[in-house]
Amino acid sequence: MSKSSRRPQQLYTVIMWILSTVFAGFLIGLGSLVIADLPNIDQQTTVKDFVDSGKISRLEHSITLTNKQIINNRLDIEDADVKLQSAKNDYQNAKASLDSWLKTRTATESISQNPEVIKRTRAVESIKQAERIALQQLEDAQTKATQSRRKLTELENRRASILDEARPKYRKSQRARELRIFLLRLALTLPLLVIGGWLLARKRKSSYWPLYRGFVLFALFAFFVELVPYLPSYGGYVRYVVGIMLVFVAGHFIIKGMRSYLERKQVEETRSEGERRQSIEYETALKKIAAKTCPGCDRNIVKREGVETDFCVHCGIRLEKDCTNCGTRNVSFHKFCLSCGTPS
Ligand SMILES: [Zn+2]
Ligand SMILES: [Zn+2]
Repeated sequence: MSKSSRRPQQLYTVIMWILSTVFAGFLIGLGSLVIADLPNIDQQTTVKDFVDSGKISRLEHSITLTNKQIINNRLDIEDADVKLQSAKNDYQNAKASLDSWLKTRTATESISQNPEVIKRTRAVESIKQAERIALQQLEDAQTKATQSRRKLTELENRRASILDEARPKYRKSQRARELRIFLLRLALTLPLLVIGGWLLARKRKSSYWPLYRGFVLFALFAFFVELVPYLPSYGGYVRYVVGIMLVFVAGHFIIKGMRSYLERKQVEETRSEGERRQSIEYETALKKIAAKTCPGCDRNIVKREGVETDFCVHCGIRLEKDCTNCGTRNVSFHKFCLSCGTPS
């Protein structure tokens, strides 16, 4: 954009780019929603869908029951432990009180035959017996807990082996599902890309080009960004292959465009200076002059200190001239004299 373009025109270009970007943004948003909803068309599966459901549900029921059993076992152990501790304490207390009672009697009486001593000793013995029973109960509870844990391990191993058997089938179906979704996405995004390419090739001169350009941006984004993350293995191939094809097609058109440009310039340079100057579009000429480029041949304008730059040294087109009325030097493409306003 040069300084000599009309100001609204510069603004218009900027606004049209904003329009293209915003349009592309909305299309991308909509497209992302559509693409994100695609996997829902296909039923999501898990490895459990590939095993005998009756078998696995019976196993899982047993696992749940066994887990409950393990919790109960733990409670039983705690209860038995509390009982044992209290039985131990009872015995310790009874034994201590018997011992101190005996001490007070040893000096005076014979111990072994005394019925009172025998009675008290038997009472302590029965408390000891209660302690033994409590210990037995604790051991029983511990044994049961060990059995439950073993049972759980065995059930879980069985479940794991059933699931392991089903895993290859599950993976196969997963891959098939991913491929289906990928092909569906490809079927949506590839035509967009083709339409984008067609718009780019045919509609660049259309007054609706800013909108078409938004669509092209959207198509590129949809194909190269939205398609790929879902399936990097296939997506990567498709992305690079299509990318290579696009670069190839673009290269073909650029080379062709450059050739026809050079041919056009060669033909132009055979025409008379006046004809050529007339054929150059006003805005284009001003842009090129501002960029110090010859509007006739697109080469750099050669200037030398102390010499008036009247002509292009490459193609001979007139670049500056004197006003016929006041003699002021003007750019030959300007329509009016800079000093007196005489049409040139
Ligand atoms: Zn030139
Ligand atoms: Zn003048």
